[in-house]
Amino acid sequence: MSDCIFCKIAAGQLPSGKVYEDDDVLAFHDIHPFARVHFLIIPKAHIAALSDCLPEHQALLGKMLLLAPRLAKEQGLDTGFKTLINTGRGGGQEVFHIHVHVFGGGDPARKS
Ligand code: 5GP
Ligand code: ZN
Repeated sequence: MSDCIFCKIAAGQLPSGKVYEDDDVLAFHDIHPFARVHFLIIPKAHIAALSDCLPEHQALLGKMLLLAPRLAKEQGLDTGFKTLINTGRGGGQEVFHIHVHVFGGGDPARKS
């Protein structure tokens, strides 16, 4: 998807605060965090939304979800975290490349 911002991030064509990368997925800090820790987990392959996923994406979706607790802990969210997948315009999705929000640790505007 040549005009997809997350495809460009996945391809290394745009900078991101990388949290994790392997052959299939990338995790990076959200540019407008709504918690002290807020990162996104995306597949490198373009899938627009959760509602576009097919049975063949089952392992990839599982991989993304299983990464969430591991990366959250590495980012210092020792006591828990929230996950969010906005789907479709009615679901508040703004970037149409599927992503899992992982966040926690309170308001980023606060010092603690
Ligand atoms: P959505 O509303 O689609 O679930 O969330 C999209 C998220 O992507 C938003 O939280 C937004 O701050 C984040 N975002 C949008 N553009 C960029 C970008 O260029 N870089 C990074 N790191 N995050 C982005
Ligand atoms: Zn994309």
